[in-house]
Amino acid sequence: MIELRNVTKTYETGKISFQALKGIDLKISEGEFTGILGPSGSGKSTLMNILGCLDRATTGTYEMDGRDISKLRDQELAHIRNKKIGFVFQSFNLLPRLTIFENVELPMIYAGVPLGERKLRAAEALTKVGLLDWAKHRPNEISGGQKQRVAIARAICNNPRIIMADEPTGNLDSKSALDIMRIFQSLNDEGRTIIMITHEKENIQYLKRVITFRDGSIIEDREVYDRKVLN
Ligand code: ADP
Ligand code: ADP
Repeated sequence: MIELRNVTKTYETGKISFQALKGIDLKISEGEFTGILGPSGSGKSTLMNILGCLDRATTGTYEMDGRDISKLRDQELAHIRNKKIGFVFQSFNLLPRLTIFENVELPMIYAGVPLGERKLRAAEALTKVGLLDWAKHRPNEISGGQKQRVAIARAICNNPRIIMADEPTGNLDSKSALDIMRIFQSLNDEGRTIIMITHEKENIQYLKRVITFRDGSIIEDREVYDRKVLN
């Protein structure tokens, strides 16, 4: 489904250039639940930005569903991103003035989903994360764990096949973190491919595969054999 071949990323800041990714080869198949681990500064976010079509590799190729998308125009890349990928961030990124329901509706407004369909899908997504009762509240009235569940509802309302999460449990207590991992596992059970950056070692046991980065290279790539299923 996704294949990177010899991908590098070099950041140029003034006269200084820094290679954040040093020739990454990576294949991710449909239905995987993959964690990206590694110390701060090892290139995880850079990789995620490239995989998520938010940024481009400096060299190398990126194939999605058998098509080389590394040389597409920005507009085409944005189209792929909006259609196929849902994003979840550590800091939730909810808009404080909007209700929880409106926050979930927002990406569908951008995607031009008609009103009736939008309401239906927002309600469905909020039901899936167990927060329909909170639809009329605003983000400051709910806990961090609940905010992240809203962010997940927002990420899935356009029915993406891929979900990318950058430290989704990084700001949460351990019980809320477990709720989030349970939701990701159920989204994965539905057939969605999940790629998650995580620092938390406790999360590893719930993943199917773990890729570890160091200094811009993959130093380990393994399956999680004794995976635990939350329910
Ligand atoms: P984290 O590791 O928690 O994702 P970072 O501090 O590495 O946070 O990065 C936060 C954001 O700042 C990212 O979008 C990253 O691309 C950007 N960033 C990180 N380092 C630099 C830098 N030296 N110059 C400019 N932007 C940077
Ligand atoms: P991680 O997510 O593993 O913390 P990042 O991908 O954010 O790592 O960063 C990898 C390296 O690239 C870091 O040294 C960071 O400072 C640098 N970096 C990230 N984004 C930028 C940027 N926009 N400009 C310059 N350097 C950056």
